This record gives sequence, C-alpha cells and structure tokens, in this order.
Amino acid sequence: MRTDLPEALLATDAGGRADEILRSCVHCGFCNATCPTYQLLGDELDGPRGRIYLIKDMLETGTADAVVQTHLDRCLTCRACETTCPSGVRYGELLEIGRDHLASLGRRRAAERFVRAWLLRVVPHRRRLRRWLRLGRAFRWLLPSGLAGRIPPLPRRRPVSEVAADRRVVVLDGCVQSVSTPGVNEALSRLLGARGIRVETAPGEGCCGALALHLGESARAQAAMQANARALADAADGAEAILSTASGCGVTVKDYGRLLPEDPAAERVAGLTLDAAEFLHGLDTTWSRAGEHRRVAWQAPCTLQRGQRAAGRVEDLLRRAGYELVPVAEPHLCCGSAGTYSMLQPALSGQLKRRKLDHLEAAAPDVIATANVGCQLHLATESRVPVVHWLELLK
Ligand code: SF4
Ligand code: SF4
Repeated sequence: MRTDLPEALLATDAGGRADEILRSCVHCGFCNATCPTYQLLGDELDGPRGRIYLIKDMLETGTADAVVQTHLDRCLTCRACETTCPSGVRYGELLEIGRDHLASLGRRRAAERFVRAWLLRVVPHRRRLRRWLRLGRAFRWLLPSGLAGRIPPLPRRRPVSEVAADRRVVVLDGCVQSVSTPGVNEALSRLLGARGIRVETAPGEGCCGALALHLGESARAQAAMQANARALADAADGAEAILSTASGCGVTVKDYGRLLPEDPAAERVAGLTLDAAEFLHGLDTTWSRAGEHRRVAWQAPCTLQRGQRAAGRVEDLLRRAGYELVPVAEPHLCCGSAGTYSMLQPALSGQLKRRKLDHLEAAAPDVIATANVGCQLHLATESRVPVVHWLELLK
C-alpha cells in the first residue's frame, strides 16, 4: 500500500511504525473472512482492510470524522484478522496507534467522554471497583436489566494456607479479576502449593494498563505499565516465572518490552511472564478432576489463542485430568467481551455473545471453561450452564 504520511509524523516512533505496517498491506481482503464485525455487519469499513484505509487516511490528513470513529470503535481488537493475513500485517499494533491518534484529535461527544472517563477512573482501581460493585449489588433492583445483569455475584473465597517451598512464582493479581473472581488465583495457589511451588503476589502491582491502552489513552497506559513493571520486577527476583491467570492481562504484560522500549524492568518482566497454562503444561506431574463436572465446552479467549499464541495447552491439561472436551463451532470468533467493548458496544457485543453461547451450549456440556475474567463474566450473564476459569477444574 502506498502511503503519504506527513514528515513530522514519520519522524516519530509511532508514525514510523504505522507507515511500515501500512506499507506491508497489499489490500487483498483475505482478513475480512475471519473478522467478526465484518461477518455481522457486512460493511467493508467494519472489516480490517476498511479500517486500515481509515487509519491511513486519518494519519495522512490529520483529521477524522464520525465515520472513522464509529468503525474504529467497533473493532474488538480480537486480532483474528492477523491469522489470515498473508503479508503479516501487524493490525493490532496499527489499531493501537490509530486509536491513540484519534483520541488526540479529541472529537468525542461529551456523553462518550464521560463514560470512558468513568471506566478509566473506576475499573483499573481495585478499591473503587469494589465500592461500585457493592453499590450495584445493593441497588440492583433499581438498575435497568441490561446493567443489573452485568454485576457479578459476590465472589466465593477459599483462602489458601501458606506454603513453605523453595520453588516460587509470582502471579499477576490485576484489577477486575482480583475483585470479581479472586478464587481463580486461589485455585492456582492450591494447585502449585500441592506440587511444592509457592505462589506470591507483587506488592504495589495493579492494572496492567490494557484498559487505557484499548481506549487510546496511551499516556495513562504507560504510567500504569511502568508502575507495574517496577513492582513485578522487584517481586520476581529469584522467581521462576510471572504467571498470568487472565489472558487479557497476560498478553499486555508479555508485550511490555515493545510498549516500554526504554525500560529494562519492562523487558525483564515481559520475558518472565507466562500464561498459567504454559507453566502448568510444562510441569512433570499428574492432574485430576475437581468436582462433579465431566463434559467441558472450552472457550479459548482471543488473547490466549492469538495474542499469546498459547492455544492447545488448556485443552491438553483438561484432557489429561480426565475431562471430555465437547466440540465447539467457530472457535476463532470473539465472544464479544473484549475489555470494555461489552459496555461501549452493547448491541454488537450481545450478538457475538449469543452466537458464542449457542456454539458452546450445543453439545450440552456440564460446564463452560475459559481463561480470561472478561470472557467469563460476559458469558455468565446469559449462559445456561456454569462458566468457570479452567484452573478451577483441576486438582
Ligand atoms: S489480509 Fe493482510 S494484506 Fe490483505 S488486506 Fe488484510 S491486512 Fe492487508
Ligand atoms: S481485530 Fe477483530 S474485529 Fe478488529 S478488524 Fe481484526 S478481526 Fe475484525
């Protein structure tokens, strides 16, 4: 693709990278075949190729109208398009630059700015999020059903006793998962503790920065990532790995080296980070089933199967533990959760959720398992069977 970006933009790191990515696209359109929004809406501008043109136009002219904003906002950042691109276009990275540029043009309506500011001020902060969820549960009966259904139930806790062990890993505690489904990290601690590995958290660790990054707030995202990288680097001294149990966070932390190129702590943290499935899969041990469920419908989050390229591990661990994995159609399609997408694009997100649940429930499983807190909470709002994190199924 020919480009004509302004010299001043080309001189910046983001401008140079955008130009390189844009030039790698040969506009063949193969990517449209795997794009969920293109499949739902059938509009070229709601597919990756159309969005690439919109970003190119915005970067070249330095302007963006409502059309650009609408179609970039509708992108899930699922990166399914990258898997069918013969030219290796780094679409996710281009979108990140495009959204950042769009935010700098400041053309959003006041109501949208308010919702985004609320999300940024509440969701990544555990204490604030906990307070809002408490309020939501208390006044659920006053809320519209769409909103009330999104409030997760009070989490069930099973605190883990201290383990004396030489081997040690650090687990990402994050923001939403530690407030909504803390049982996931407790399950990891029990599993590894029973195998002589101590699981610790990093004091001072918080949101990985993904939420701000996806909303095009790069300065805020950088601040969160830098603070996190420092906290994790300190805690990981002498640890075997930093483990992520929420694939949406893991994909971001693994990318810290690129996102914070001047920061040695970020590079070290990125190099040490693994999804829990990668670590558990590499252990020389046996696994068994926890609980009564036997037939599992597995939902591989986009951030695990494409972002981290760690597909297949969870399925293997579950089978080794004695579960039967039922067939699920269209495993590449996003469930519509996509971070804050379910709140900012409820109609599209709802259609994708219904489609995903129809596939997941088709073979009448006992339980649906996933690897990301966002997908878990999103699917649980309408699922007829329990939706759990896969770690909770192992013993
Ligand atoms: S498949 Fe790749 S090269 Fe073809 S249009 Fe899509 S992004 Fe461009
Ligand atoms: S990231 Fe997902 S929604 Fe966005 S263009 Fe690519 S395939 Fe489509």
